[in-house]
Amino acid sequence: MARIVMKFGGTSVKDIDRIRNVAQRVKAEVGAGNEVAVVVSAMAGVTNQLVDWTNQLSKLHDPREYDVVVASGEQVTSGLLAVGLQAIGVEARSWLGWQVPIRSNAVHGKARIESILAERIEAGFKRGEVAVVAGFQGVAEGERITTLGRGGSDTSAVALAAALKASRCDIYTDVDGVYTTDPRIVAKARKLDKITYEEMLELASLGAKVLQTRSVEMAMNHRVRLRVLSSFEDGPGTLVCDEDEIVEKSIVSGIAYSRDEAKITLTGVADRPGVAAAIFGPLAESSINVDMIVQNVSVDGTSTDITFTVGKADLDRAVHVITGRRDKLTFKDLKADKNVSKVSVIGVGMRSHAGVAQRMFSALADRSINIQAISTSEIKISVLIAEEYTELAVRALHTAYGLDGK
Ligand code: ADP
Ligand code: ASP
Ligand code: MG
Repeated sequence: MARIVMKFGGTSVKDIDRIRNVAQRVKAEVGAGNEVAVVVSAMAGVTNQLVDWTNQLSKLHDPREYDVVVASGEQVTSGLLAVGLQAIGVEARSWLGWQVPIRSNAVHGKARIESILAERIEAGFKRGEVAVVAGFQGVAEGERITTLGRGGSDTSAVALAAALKASRCDIYTDVDGVYTTDPRIVAKARKLDKITYEEMLELASLGAKVLQTRSVEMAMNHRVRLRVLSSFEDGPGTLVCDEDEIVEKSIVSGIAYSRDEAKITLTGVADRPGVAAAIFGPLAESSINVDMIVQNVSVDGTSTDITFTVGKADLDRAVHVITGRRDKLTFKDLKADKNVSKVSVIGVGMRSHAGVAQRMFSALADRSINIQAISTSEIKISVLIAEEYTELAVRALHTAYGLDGK
């Protein structure tokens, strides 16, 4: 007998037939003698609708109320799956985040899980019950509902697997594993049998939505055996594991892209110590993550331009924070641009090979794609480009690094 966590994403629970399909998959695991906790997302499209309604009322809404609204999609699917399981003779009950409880910090909209009490769910296992846990949600001090950032049900699943000391955490989705790049935009993308935690972490954080970044980080820290597999067809999926479990290693293992960033340029910023701190400090205090930063050298010794990116969802808030401090931050002009995307190449092999960046720049230059910003780390290179070239760039790079399959 094993204890396992199964997570089903939005497309896997998008309607009643699909929920029936999920119930059958869960039943099979229970039938094999396993103790099962299931984590569910909201039905596909529901969270977007809830976000949109909140934004229609106010772009600068109270993030605590945003969480109350957007967490509701998972309440529906957790109850429905419990009903669906009971209907086929499987004992089950639903659990909302606060009922477990899944405690998080109070950074609403992108809260981090701080602890999960496993006891109540374990007591349910003893009664022979499947636990159907609403993903994406937690509870913070003051008993306020929180959500874990878009795609956060993956993190709910991994955190629960760690708390329950489960022997596996299986993420069921609409693709049959992790690919060299998004198989929806590159037909020649190849499925990987295994990928290292580190590479998966970079792929996820650079935009591959197949797993939420935080879920990979947590799996790596708690050594959770994480698999990505299809909820529609049987197959081994992709195992996320340690580097030494992987025999065949390539220099570049994947390409990711993100349309979720927006670019802000401040022109005529005073070129003196303390200016960057004055800009980025207030953004950090407002929980706005800044990603790429480019500062030009000052031509006249007095002023310069600073360009940086923030999440598209944070753009209005970021502009508000900066313009609200206009008197303290001397700058001439603020330009916001949503028409950008970030394309990245990732691979642990980059540590020991030269020329990886050069190949990227040439492949983009050959297609006349202009690079607006660059950032690198030990195992990735990212560039910011105009959004309309995203797919062209990803395909060109996939070919340039020899990743194309048949
Ligand atoms: P779920 O609703 O099940 O959580 P998501 O939409 O969040 O599913 O994630 C699955 C999607 O991730 C796939 O449909 C695919 O388009 C996208 N994706 C992006 N990059 C990759 C990749 N490298 N490998 C597999 N899927 C990817
Ligand atoms: N329903 C949430 C979202 O769409 C969480 C998830 O699906 O993982 O972001
Ligand atoms: Mg997802």
